[in-house]
Amino acid sequence: MTTSADGLPPLRDVISTHELRAQKSLGQNFLLDLNLTGKIARQAGDLSNCDVLEVGPGPGGLTRALLYEGARRVVAIERDERCLPALAEISEHYDGRLKVISGDALAVNPHEHFEGPIKIVANLPYNVGTELLVRWLTPKEWPPFWDSLTLMFQREVAHRIVAQPGSKAYGRLSILSQWRSDAKIVMDLPPQAFTPAPKVSSAVVHITKCDQPKFNCDAKVLERVVATAFNQRRKMLRASLKSLAPDIEDRINAAGIKPTERAEQLSVEEFCTLSQMFS
Ligand code: SAM
Repeated sequence: MTTSADGLPPLRDVISTHELRAQKSLGQNFLLDLNLTGKIARQAGDLSNCDVLEVGPGPGGLTRALLYEGARRVVAIERDERCLPALAEISEHYDGRLKVISGDALAVNPHEHFEGPIKIVANLPYNVGTELLVRWLTPKEWPPFWDSLTLMFQREVAHRIVAQPGSKAYGRLSILSQWRSDAKIVMDLPPQAFTPAPKVSSAVVHITKCDQPKFNCDAKVLERVVATAFNQRRKMLRASLKSLAPDIEDRINAAGIKPTERAEQLSVEEFCTLSQMFS
C-alpha cells in the first residue's frame, strides 16, 4: 500500500476508501496536496508549543499537516459525520494528539476544549467562514482566547479583511480585523488547488492579535457605528448615521470629521474617535 510522507495513505485513497464525495451544501472543496497543506500550516508559525483549533477538517489534509508540523494538540470540529472514520485513523496514527468534535462549529464553545491561548487554522467552509471570523474578532473580552488566525477564504473576502480606506473592499470586516489585530494575505491559491475546483480563487489570511486595541473605544459601540455607517456606504455620514442620534452632525464634527465624508473614507482610528462620541 502506498503511503505519504507522514505514513498515512494519500488523500485521494482516503477519499475513495471512505466514499467522501464532496457536498456543495457543506462548502466541501478539499485540499489533497500535502505539500500545499504543509505550506499553509507553516504560515501559522511554530506550532510545537501550541494547541490548534481547526474548523472543517474534512478528510484531514490540513489536519495531517498541522500534526506533521508538530502541533502539540489539534481539536477539529467537523459537521460531516462521513469524515469521522478517516479522522479517527489520523488520531490513532498521532497517538491521540487529534481530538475530533462532531458538530456544527457555530454551536461549539471552544472554551470548553482549551486552557491557554491557541492558534486557529482552517480552510473554512465558505457558508460560515465570515460569521466565524466575526465571532473570533468580537469576543466578550480582549485579549481573545486565540493568538493568531490562519484562515483560507475566497479571495474577495480576504481582500475585504486587509482593505485600506478609500477602496471598494474596505468595510466592516476590515475595521474589525485591523482595530486590535494585524491582518495580511500570506498565500494565494487558484481554484485548481482544490477538489472539486470552486469557481473563484482563494487566499490565506494571517491575523495576529494585539494585546491592546490600537485605538481606544468601546467594542460594542464601534461595532454599531461601523455597521450603521457601512449599511449605506455611499451616503454621507450625516445621513448614514442619522439613526444613531438626533444631533449626529455635532457629534461627527466633535470627532474632527467632516459630516460630508463617506464611511469608506474613514480610517480605523477615525471610526474609533467617532465611536467615543457615543460612549
Ligand atoms: N480542511 C479540509 C481541506 O482543507 O481539505 C476541508 C475544507 S472544506 C473547504 C470545509 C469543511 O468544513 C468540510 O469538511 C465541511 O464538511 C466542513 N463544514 C461545513 N460546515 C461546517 C460547520 N458548520 N461546522 C464544522 N464543519 C463544517
